[in-house]
Amino acid sequence: MKSILNADLHCHSVISDGTLTPEQLAERAKAAGVELWALTDHDEVGGQDRALAAARAQKLPYLTGVEISVTFANQTVHIVGLGFDHHDTQLQDGLRRTRGGRGDRAQEMSDSLAKVGIVGAYEGALKYVGNPDLISRTHFARYLVEAGVCKETSEVFRKYLTEGKPGFVPHRWARLQDAVQWITQAGGMAVIAHPARYGFTPNEEYALFTEFKAHGGQGVEVVTGSHSPQEAVRYADTAKEFGLFASRGSDFHSPEESHTDLGALPWLSGELTPAWEVLADRIQ
Ligand code: AMP
Ligand code: MN
Ligand code: MN
Ligand code: MN
Repeated sequence: MKSILNADLHCHSVISDGTLTPEQLAERAKAAGVELWALTDHDEVGGQDRALAAARAQKLPYLTGVEISVTFANQTVHIVGLGFDHHDTQLQDGLRRTRGGRGDRAQEMSDSLAKVGIVGAYEGALKYVGNPDLISRTHFARYLVEAGVCKETSEVFRKYLTEGKPGFVPHRWARLQDAVQWITQAGGMAVIAHPARYGFTPNEEYALFTEFKAHGGQGVEVVTGSHSPQEAVRYADTAKEFGLFASRGSDFHSPEESHTDLGALPWLSGELTPAWEVLADRIQ
């Protein structure tokens, strides 16, 4: 399959922290000219049957997807899985455990926000949650905008929800090797999501890619809504250096919040091997 394909293999629905349903996303993707789609909700495959059915209704080729939260070198890293069997029990058990601590973490976030005078954030965030198992920082950000604490969600993250800020509660997610293994043993490809977002030192980043490969990881997002054109060039080089397949995805969450819409991304460089080329037999 060609590199010049409008593949969008990263986005979120109400099953995690997006604001559209899988059906609305399928329709929006089709209308935007997406030619291959994957819904990649955080730590959850509960939207996959709906996404697949909606994609079929739109005649939109589909790959199963997920975005797993991992702790590596004391930082949160996201690993996207593509083209796996979403009924696989080991994957489902692993994801259930990964989701497990979110409720307590949310309570702690709310307690620490209360200390800086923002009360009722837990209850406020819950109003935005589509899946009770998946309360995330994004839901807090939406509530803090509603409450008038900030103008937009990006400002909430900057001032309250990132490391060192009053509402940030560190959390231990899955291990890198486990996330990669859950995906690969279920027949899928593991992909490092938006690598430029992590702020690793060059040594830490080298360790991430090296260990990811050693555990059986095969792909990296080169073109994503989180990368500048320069970063896409940089991670195209990394993909070549480590012999990884390249993926492309908007990381779309919401028409109001996301600056990159479904499918509205630069093409993948023709020098790379697209992830979808190796996943061709997994496309539904
Ligand atoms: P959580 O899994 O609860 O830690 O939330 C992570 C989610 O928060 C990410 O998937 C993004 O959707 C969102 N997020 C993280 N950092 C930012 C940021 N700086 N601006 C906007 N959204 C962010
Ligand atoms: Mn998100
Ligand atoms: Mn992510
Ligand atoms: Mn994402």
